[in-house]
Amino acid sequence: MIAESATLAIDGKAKSMVAAGRDVVIFGAGEPDFPTPPHIVEAAQRAAADPRNHRYTATAGLPPLREAVAEKTRRDSGLEVSSDSVLITNGAKQAIYNAFATLLDPGDEVLVPTPYWVTYPEAISLAGGVPVEVPTDETSGFRVTIQQLEAARSSRTKVLLFVSPGNPTGAVYPPSEVEKIGDWAARRGLWVVTDEIYEHLVYGDNQFHSLAPLLSDRYVIVNGVAKTFAMTGWRVGWMVGPPDVIRAATNLQSHATSNVGNVAQMAALAALTGPMDSVALMRAAFDRRRRTMYEGLAAMPGVVCREPEGAFYAFPSLRQALATLGFSSSIELAAALLEEAGVAIVPGEAFGAFGYARLSYALGDADLVRGLDRLEEFLAGRPRQI
Ligand code: PMP
Repeated sequence: MIAESATLAIDGKAKSMVAAGRDVVIFGAGEPDFPTPPHIVEAAQRAAADPRNHRYTATAGLPPLREAVAEKTRRDSGLEVSSDSVLITNGAKQAIYNAFATLLDPGDEVLVPTPYWVTYPEAISLAGGVPVEVPTDETSGFRVTIQQLEAARSSRTKVLLFVSPGNPTGAVYPPSEVEKIGDWAARRGLWVVTDEIYEHLVYGDNQFHSLAPLLSDRYVIVNGVAKTFAMTGWRVGWMVGPPDVIRAATNLQSHATSNVGNVAQMAALAALTGPMDSVALMRAAFDRRRRTMYEGLAAMPGVVCREPEGAFYAFPSLRQALATLGFSSSIELAAALLEEAGVAIVPGEAFGAFGYARLSYALGDADLVRGLDRLEEFLAGRPRQI
C-alpha cells in the first residue's frame, strides 16, 4: 500500500527530525496529549502490588470489568446486555480484528464508508473478507446515505462498518440518520460492526447516538478507554456482541494473546466506574482547539474545511492548494511541508482520500497556533512549477 508507507515515512521522518533537535509541530497524533487522570493511575499502582494480578486470568477479562463495560453499554449505547456479551481486548484494535475474524467467511463483503481509518481494510482482508468502499466527501458531511449503501450492496455483503464520531473525518451522524441506517441494515439482515471509541468526544449540538440497539442481534460494538480517558498506552478495549460471537472471539483471543494485562484492566475498571469530570475537562480543551483549528484552516488559501463535529481531527481538502502550488498529491505536499516548514500532517491518501489531509488537534494550544501559522505561510508560497 503506497499511501500507507508514505504516511509511515512522514511520521518516521518527523520523529527523527525532532530527535535531531529540529522544531517540528506534529499534527499527526491519534491520541490525547493529556496524562491519564490520577485516580486511574493510582488504581493501577494498587493493582500492581496485589499478587492476584501477577497471574493469568480468564481470557474474556476480569469479571468486574466485564460487568462495568456491560453497565456503561446499557448507559451510553442504550443496549440491554450482560457481561457474557463482553470480551476485554488489547485495545479497540484487537476488538476490530476479533470481530471481523469471527464474523467473516472468505469472500464476504464489508461496506466501508470512505475516508476510513487505515486498520479496517487490513483487518477485513486478513479475515478473508473484501472491503467495499463507499465514498463520501465534505459535501455530504463525510456521511453515507442509504442510497449509496444500497447501491454498494451485493449478494455477498455481510457486514456494514459504521464509525461515528469518525476518524479521520471528525464527522458525527445525527440521531435521525443513525436510525435510518440501522433500520436499513436490520431490514437487509446485515451485521453492523460499530466503532464507538470517540463517543464522548462530540462538540456543540452534536450528539453521539449508538446504532447497536436498532439491530436485534447482529451487531458488534467496538470501544475502549484509549480516547475518552487518555489511556492509549494502557491497551484496553472491548467488543460487545451476542454471546455466541463473544464466545468464538474469546476462543480466538485465547490462542492469540490470552487475557489483557491485569494491571491495565484494573486501571480501566477505575476509569469506567470513577468520576467523569476529567473527561469533561479534556473535552472542553479539545473543543477549544477544534475551533482554533477549524477557523485557522477555513481561512487559508486553497483549503476547504468543514467544521469537525467529533473526535479530534480536522480533515480539510487541499486540492486547490495542490493545483496552485504544483503538487501531485497530499503525500508530496506533506513531505515538502515537513521538510521546509517543520509541520507534520497525515496525507489523506492514507485513508483512501486523494488530496485531503488529517490534522489532529490533540496538541497544546500554543503548538497548534504555531503549526497553523507555518502551514498558512507555506500555502501562501510560490508555485513549484511555473
Ligand atoms: N478505532 C478508531 C476509530 C481509532 O481511531 C482508533 C485509534 N486510532 C482505534 C479504534 C484503536 O484504539 P485502541 O488504541 O484502543 O486500539
